[in-house]
Amino acid sequence: MGRRRGGGGAAAAACWALSVAAAVAAPVGGRSRGAASWYEAEARARQVLQRLTTAEVLQLLAGEDPRVYTGQIPAFTERGVFALNMQNGPQGVQTVYRQFQAPGTSTAWPCALAMAATFDSAQVAAWGGAMAREFVAKGANVWLGPGLNVLRVPFNGRSFEYLSGEDPLLGAELVAALIPAVQAEGVAATAKHFLGNSQETERGSVNERVDERTLRELYLPPFEAAVGADTAAVMCSYNRINGSWACGSNSTLTRVLREDWGFRGWVMSDWGATHSTEALASGLDQEMPFGQFFTPSNITKSIREGHISVADANRAAERVLTGAFFAAAPPSGNLKANVTSDEHAAIARDLAGASAILLQNNVPATHADSGEAHCVLPLQKGLKVAVVGDAAHKKPIVTGGGSGHVDPAWVSTHFSALAAQTDATYADSSDPVAAAALAAQSDVAVVVVGVESREGQDRRSLSLAEADDSLVRAVAAANPKTVVVVCAPGPVLLPWREDVPAILFTLYGGQEAGAGVADVLLGDRAPSGRLPFTIPAEEPMFPPSAFPGEGGEAVYLERLRIGYRAYRPLGSEEGAHGGEGILEGLAGREPAFWFGFGMSYTEFEYSGLHFDEDTVQVNVANVGSVTSVDVPQLYLSFPAGEEEPERQLRRFRALRLQPGESQEVSWTLGKRDFSVWDEGVGGWRLVLGKFQLYVCPDAGCTGCSDPSAELEVREGFALRPPGRAAGAP
Ligand code: BGC
Repeated sequence: MGRRRGGGGAAAAACWALSVAAAVAAPVGGRSRGAASWYEAEARARQVLQRLTTAEVLQLLAGEDPRVYTGQIPAFTERGVFALNMQNGPQGVQTVYRQFQAPGTSTAWPCALAMAATFDSAQVAAWGGAMAREFVAKGANVWLGPGLNVLRVPFNGRSFEYLSGEDPLLGAELVAALIPAVQAEGVAATAKHFLGNSQETERGSVNERVDERTLRELYLPPFEAAVGADTAAVMCSYNRINGSWACGSNSTLTRVLREDWGFRGWVMSDWGATHSTEALASGLDQEMPFGQFFTPSNITKSIREGHISVADANRAAERVLTGAFFAAAPPSGNLKANVTSDEHAAIARDLAGASAILLQNNVPATHADSGEAHCVLPLQKGLKVAVVGDAAHKKPIVTGGGSGHVDPAWVSTHFSALAAQTDATYADSSDPVAAAALAAQSDVAVVVVGVESREGQDRRSLSLAEADDSLVRAVAAANPKTVVVVCAPGPVLLPWREDVPAILFTLYGGQEAGAGVADVLLGDRAPSGRLPFTIPAEEPMFPPSAFPGEGGEAVYLERLRIGYRAYRPLGSEEGAHGGEGILEGLAGREPAFWFGFGMSYTEFEYSGLHFDEDTVQVNVANVGSVTSVDVPQLYLSFPAGEEEPERQLRRFRALRLQPGESQEVSWTLGKRDFSVWDEGVGGWRLVLGKFQLYVCPDAGCTGCSDPSAELEVREGFALRPPGRAAGAP
């Protein structure tokens, strides 16, 4: 089985023995929500509803014009209804919104995509729990998060807000840990943006045209997992989907959410995403931020005209109350309160470090033959370090723009964090010649570059600013020991990657970004982040009809072939389900870095892959000299003819192992893992036949035997190594 590379090719074994600080585990749990079960919450909701006047019932169906919180539903205290105070966003409590200004009073956590990069449910739960405690202290009992959209368009301006990266299973597994951690604090979670909000360009009107199989296999699973994890609320999105407004689509809001998945909480609209009063009958329960269509007069009129029924209105109100009683506690905090703390800063720092992805760590070219075969990272603390780039200090890029933006009281910059522990000197981006001169006089150079991104617009290109690329090249030419730190909202092109020995890739890391990165650079913790998306070698080419769309419509021509799935030939011959596709031409090519990839300061070895009934087992050993986290990933290839992309992620596990330690990982697979959505049947169809199974360090399966194992699925869902007869032991 494969050995995964540690600190860079042949030099890996020579790379550093260090002690690594254990991750700070955040306490989870605390305030408990009102109801013990959906059943109890529903019973309470029904009881309370009987006490409400018609006017009060209708007030639950639309927000009151927000004065303090991003969204507000009033309390009817004497009737047993507490207020719903809804607040952004997915990276922490938003403290600057319209007339409300309290900057610096909440923690800017690493963004959701950074948390996806941990591939670690425990870290994601720690993040959610700590963040939720700040919502509680701020008096908010509904979190307008998590964002779960799977990254279809790498340019997506909100990619940093989403927990799924480019893989549905990644989002599904992480959200399953996140939602209970948040709701245990008495804060209702809101899974958003449902559904097909894949781009910001014309998000308020674009029709996302996507076939059912692609929806079921790629875009729905994280939301399905959120429902499975008891999310109290779902937020429908701005766009249209297959011709209907996402906030008025009976097919997604009722058929999928309610009938297929059994969702029992409430659906709120995105802010201003409601388009009719009749949407109430399609499954939209609440118009936010205030009623334009769901006003008492419109609802009454629509009932009178027979478009919607009294039962529709009552049902929506019952769902709002059910979700609230199930997950939210009565609010008690104050939005102006300062809810940051040293404890939270420490957790944010730990998470920022845990989410940093080491993409490259080579021996500097000039030292390769000198016998000093040390990789550039980690840096020794006594070194003279040139820290270069606006993003390193002058203009840190640690949170995205829009409703997910958080204004922290302070930001730990890369320079300040490194200067606290090394002999560091700073040069901003304004004078590349001066920056290169500083680098030349230093033992090592750390260049920090990045790109901003925001809600409401997509990035035009995956490139960094030309000036940033030139800065990297100038510094690398001046000092062969150059480390590039990238602060990104999603995939970014790294055209100079072969000219620099080390690259540490980070997603917006929040207020402690600098400290978290310094911990990794200086070896106080070994890097363990993994790419939650593929980094292409070149700018991806989209037919305009696929993105940003033509004539108001974006067609998912690529079907299942997004992200890493685009780089492998489909498991079929002619007429493949993959279609013509966005990323046409990528099949068989290599990206710059695969989904799932990330190195450490140690090496791991996988061995003994076998399966027993429906359980796959593999042994993971840390064969290097540093304690670190590895993320073995289980990929599955369907039998040919099923039109499925090769090697799709099915399981992963973050494991902390000390040098010499090994652990047996077990994954139980179920029918769904071997099924495809069959449009003819309108349901999941178990595929019979031979599957290939791979345990890999990334989606490229670099360093794995090929294939790792084969298994056969037979009638009645029995998994066997091929050749073993049914019924045989
Ligand atoms: C965003 C949502 C956000 C809401 C409230 C919308 O523009 O799409 O994600 O929660 O505003 O600010």
